[in-house]
Amino acid sequence: MSATQETALKPVDTHLADILDAVEVLAPLDVTLLDAHGCVLAEDISAAHPLPPFDNSAMDGYATRSVDIAGATEHTPVTLPVVGDIAAGSATPYTVQPGLCVRIMTGAPMPPGADTVVPVEWTDGGIAHVSIRRAAPPGAHVRHAGEDVAAGTTVLQVGAHLGAPQVGLLAAVGRERALVRPRPRVVVLSTGTELLDPGQPLTTGKIPDANSSLLTAAAQEAGAIAYRVGIVPDDPTVLIDTLEDQLIRADLVITSGGVSVGAYDVVKEALGRIGEVRFDRVAMQPGMPQGFGLIGPERTPFFGLPGNPVSAYVSFEVFVRPALRRLLGVEPLHRPTVRARVTEPLTSPPGKRTFARAWLSVDKGEYVVAPVGGSGSHLIASLAGANSFVVVPEDVTDVAAGSAVTVMLLERRQR
Ligand code: AMP
Ligand code: MG
Repeated sequence: MSATQETALKPVDTHLADILDAVEVLAPLDVTLLDAHGCVLAEDISAAHPLPPFDNSAMDGYATRSVDIAGATEHTPVTLPVVGDIAAGSATPYTVQPGLCVRIMTGAPMPPGADTVVPVEWTDGGIAHVSIRRAAPPGAHVRHAGEDVAAGTTVLQVGAHLGAPQVGLLAAVGRERALVRPRPRVVVLSTGTELLDPGQPLTTGKIPDANSSLLTAAAQEAGAIAYRVGIVPDDPTVLIDTLEDQLIRADLVITSGGVSVGAYDVVKEALGRIGEVRFDRVAMQPGMPQGFGLIGPERTPFFGLPGNPVSAYVSFEVFVRPALRRLLGVEPLHRPTVRARVTEPLTSPPGKRTFARAWLSVDKGEYVVAPVGGSGSHLIASLAGANSFVVVPEDVTDVAAGSAVTVMLLERRQR
């Protein structure tokens, strides 16, 4: 690296644009309904049949002709012979002749000849004969074929997010599968010989691996299927072997650690051997060292994030999450931002975009944002106490208390 490359920082927006240029939406996949849940639809769905498919009863009661019970009141009930029962699912072709009725259950097909349903609550519930105490106009308590959806109607469009109600609608129109944008499969691993699995007893010099859990959870929140592979020691051969094993199930790979300039920065050393990965110094704080490229035979997007947990998470939010949303084919790619009044002064290094952990709240109808914790990128406890980042632009070094700032919201979910 030349001296100028050493010192020149890459703008955040340029790095993000390079990433988004390299990442393409995943090819659509035909999946069963429950696999489609949580995905984005890649086809328009039209109803092959009307909903409801046939006229049916909205109540348990008696199907009859409204003219035959027009005079029914509490004091002058009308008694009709009951000629049969129609249960939901029944295909018995009763025809209701004048002066008669059939007992009918909710969801059962309306028998020809009948035009109304008298709820059982308006009657004595009789089986051979029924005494009806209230008149019901034509069409009462009848659900008409197609009143929800007419046959041929487009019920869901390309790009629709398939939550539980949409999955229910797919089933209701008779679909057992749907073409969706699949959830990206994300492989997450942490590099560092100092790392132990959480729960392991600490020994001298060792720390629990926070990043693989943090980043796997973040990828899941972003809509991915994420696999926490766990810890890889600072050994390039082990890292390459692990990546080569994992690439088979990955649409995107995230590592943390090993991307700065220290000795044992294995990610930097290893990745050149299995793909085209660039390591840049990006003009941001935290998160300056960033690796990004395409690796393996499928040219899988690869992110080599810095090791400090806060740096790793900020990098995820700023670069990885938009890439995951691009893979998913959903907009907007970026977290929402708001303008808020900051409660305390902030400083930011010249030429860098600072992402400061903060708590955003509403006070008297106005957004107020309070920085939380220090600026050290190892301070994960303050990260866990934040719901947002104050974003201080590159050309600002001092932010006065009370001034307006841009705040990036870290909602748990965003669709
Ligand atoms: P590195 O980027 O590998 O130089 O790591 C920078 C700092 O982050 C070091 O103090 C590491 O011990 C720490 N670190 C790296 N990976 C993790 C991890 N997975 N969990 C917690 N801390 C980590
Ligand atoms: Mg390391």
